[in-house]
Amino acid sequence: MRSPQGDARAEPARPLLVRARHVLTSGPAGHVRDGAVAVVGDRIAAVGPWAAVRADHPDAEVVGDGTGILTPGFVSCHGHFSEGLVTGIGETHTLWEWFVHVVGPIEPFLTREVAYVGALLKGAEMALSGVTTTADMFCHAPGPEPSTPGVVDALEQLGLRGDLSYGAQDDSNPRPLELVLAEHEALSAAAAASARSRFRVGLATVPASSDELIGATVTLLRDTPRLHVHLHEVREEVTQSRMSRGMGSVEYAARAGLLDAQVLAAHCVWLDDTDFGLLRAHDVAVAHNPVSNALLASGVAAVPRMLREGLTVGLGLDGPASNDSQDMLQTLKIAALLQKVTTQQATALTAPRVLELATIGGARALGMDAEIGSLEVGKQADLVLFAEASVSLSNVHDPYQELVYCASPRDVHTVWVAGRPVVSGGRPLGVDVPALLPHARELAIKLAVDAGLDSELARAGTGTDR
Ligand SMILES: [Zn+2]
Repeated sequence: MRSPQGDARAEPARPLLVRARHVLTSGPAGHVRDGAVAVVGDRIAAVGPWAAVRADHPDAEVVGDGTGILTPGFVSCHGHFSEGLVTGIGETHTLWEWFVHVVGPIEPFLTREVAYVGALLKGAEMALSGVTTTADMFCHAPGPEPSTPGVVDALEQLGLRGDLSYGAQDDSNPRPLELVLAEHEALSAAAAASARSRFRVGLATVPASSDELIGATVTLLRDTPRLHVHLHEVREEVTQSRMSRGMGSVEYAARAGLLDAQVLAAHCVWLDDTDFGLLRAHDVAVAHNPVSNALLASGVAAVPRMLREGLTVGLGLDGPASNDSQDMLQTLKIAALLQKVTTQQATALTAPRVLELATIGGARALGMDAEIGSLEVGKQADLVLFAEASVSLSNVHDPYQELVYCASPRDVHTVWVAGRPVVSGGRPLGVDVPALLPHARELAIKLAVDAGLDSELARAGTGTDR
C-alpha cells in the first residue's frame, strides 16, 4: 500500500524554502508577514521575512507562492487508534454506556492487523487536517500476539510522529498482568526500532485498574517516566473512585506515585480545587478533547482556569469512535466555541490561544517542545501550508481567526514532517487510500460482526440487512 513516492523516511535532497503571506510561528517570532521558513535536512534553518530568508538561500527549492498561511504541524495529544474501524456509532450513549455497547465489545478482537489498518486510515485522516504528531493510547484486551506494534508500523509508513501507549486496565475483559506487561514491552520495542515513534507508559483509568496493576505501572515508570492516563473524564469516574477508594482518581493517582512521572492526563473535566492543586503540584499536562467531551455529553473542561493557573494544556482529537472524525481543524474550532458558549464570554478562548494549544501547547504537554511545536531555528521541520486559493481562505482578514473558524482539510496544501512531505495536494503520501479502503471495510465488517455491534455495515456485509 505504499505510494509511488516510496519510503516515508527518505530525507529531502535540497534545502527547501516554504513561503506564505502569513507565517504563524507559535514561537518568539510570532506572526511574520510575507515570511518563509528555510528547511535544511530535517530541521528549520531560518524563519523570517521572505526577502531575507531567500537572500540567504538563493539556490533552495521554493514551495508556496507567497499567499496562504504557514503553521507548525498540529499535535494531537490524545486518541485511540484502537477505535479506527468503528466511527459513527453509538451517539446516544454517555461514556460508560458507550464503553459497554461500542468500545468494550471490540477489545478482544483488535489484532495487530486491525491496529495497523485502523491507524493507517485514521492517521491519514489526521495528517490531512495538519496533524504531524499524535499521542495515542491503544485500548484492547491483550492476547498472545501483541497488537500495538501495528500502530507503529502504520505511523512509520505515513511518516507521522507517535507518542504511543497501551491503555492498560484489568477490571473488564480478561487481562492477566503478564499479558498487559507483554503488550507494553512489545510496543516499547517497536517504538524504539522506529524513526518517529516513542513509547509512553499507559493506564486507561485509575478506577478500572487494580492496586496490583497500578503498582506495576509505577514500576514501569521508573524506566520510562512518561504516563498517559484518563483522569476525571466523567462524573461517574469520580463517584466510583470515591465509593471504592475513598477519594477521586487524581488524589489516588498522586498518592500511588503515578503523578511523579511526566503525566499526560486526558480530559480533566471534573476537577475540584484539591484536584487543581494536585495537578499544579505535579505539573500534570492536560489533553483537552472538546469534540469527544461534547459528543459523549461528558461536560466542558475548565480550560481558561487551567491556563490561568499555569497548567500545560494541549488539544486532542480523542478516538475515532468518540469524536468521531479525526479532523484537527474541527477540534480547534470546537475548543473555542465550547468555551464561548459555556462562559458566555466571547473572549474565553481566542483563536491565537487555540492555535497555541494545538501546536506548542501540545508539544509541551508531551514534553517534546525542545524539538517540535513551533517554527524556530533548530527545531524539527514539521509544517502545514494552507492554500489561500480556496473557497474558505480567499480573504484573510485575520489569519488566526481564518484558520480556527474557517479552515478545513480541503485547504491543507502540504504537510511536512521532519522536512519531508507527508501530505501533498490533498493526498497522504504514505498510503494508497483507494487500495486501503476495501481491506479496511472487510476488517470493519468482521470486527462489527465479532463484537455484535448494532451496525448497518455488519448487516450489509453479512447479507442480513433488512
Ligand atoms: Zn480517551
